[in-house]
Amino acid sequence: MNIKEVPPGTEQASESLGDSEGKVEAQKVVFGFRTMLIATLGLLLAAGGVCSALQGQDASPTSSAEKSPEDQTDVLIARVESAMRALKSKVMSSIEEMEDEQLKKDLKVPFDVIGRNEANTDKNKLRFKREVLAIGGHHISDNPYDFLYELRDIDDGVAAYAHVSRTMILGKSLDPDNLLDCLVIYHETRHVINDTHFRQGIKSDAEFAAYMRFFTRREGEEKMVCVDDEFTAYGIEIELLNLMLDGALYDAAVSGPPVDPEEVRALLNARTDQIGMIKLLIEFSEVYYPNGMNENGVYPRAFVNLVAANYRNLGYSLYINTGKGTQVPFQTENY
Ligand SMILES: [Zn+2]
Repeated sequence: MNIKEVPPGTEQASESLGDSEGKVEAQKVVFGFRTMLIATLGLLLAAGGVCSALQGQDASPTSSAEKSPEDQTDVLIARVESAMRALKSKVMSSIEEMEDEQLKKDLKVPFDVIGRNEANTDKNKLRFKREVLAIGGHHISDNPYDFLYELRDIDDGVAAYAHVSRTMILGKSLDPDNLLDCLVIYHETRHVINDTHFRQGIKSDAEFAAYMRFFTRREGEEKMVCVDDEFTAYGIEIELLNLMLDGALYDAAVSGPPVDPEEVRALLNARTDQIGMIKLLIEFSEVYYPNGMNENGVYPRAFVNLVAANYRNLGYSLYINTGKGTQVPFQTENY
């Protein structure tokens, strides 16, 4: 059995800066944990190129109003998977041309994880809860990268990742025809991958409980974030955006002309209310490049400090993973 109790409270979700608090109901089931533990122990894209023209913020399927939430989720999952397949095919040749083998691999993995999860028959969380959990079943998979999707309201954002139940939360405003939204999905998928790797470092039930506890927020408790999880997610997000912009972010950081956020917004088919997120990514890229992540997995100090400062400004207490399922407070000096 892989059913475990987690402490009562609110599952904390990792989301992009500018997103909502991402509160999620505590789940009583730890999805896929036993599978994980067993495994452990053992260019600008031409506008409209990937996506069709934005049809407005309510670009949802016309029949969705009559569909059940479970069926609506199926529709959105299929659109997300299709959009990510299209994005992958657009950037793959640029990825293949890169010289840095580690970066090449890191850029491909999120696409592969989403692609493999297409075959996960339990990925629709509502259906999984109704058809499997309700009759006492549990998820069985050999793939430790499997995750769930759930469609729900997110106040100010399009997607988030909830570690406790390994759920990618798709906000109701998420538009797979919007490349910035696809980029957010890509960022959140890096959290899925990091979560798998963090779990693979866990060696005991106590460490596992501590890991679950970290991502469960009780009433009145501080907001916490593992910033090392965010450094990697933003790092790879910037790398992909740079490829999508044909190297413009890198060039701007080195010597080129500054990147115009409005131009990026138009190219990504993003909404006007997403300009803040675009500006933030550009700002991050200015300190991420020219070095980016080095061969030891270390990020530029100015990038680390800037990402950390943004979370601190949002009222988060910052932590880093120890690699054993536990977290310690982040300080510039200890990272
Ligand atoms: Zn994140």
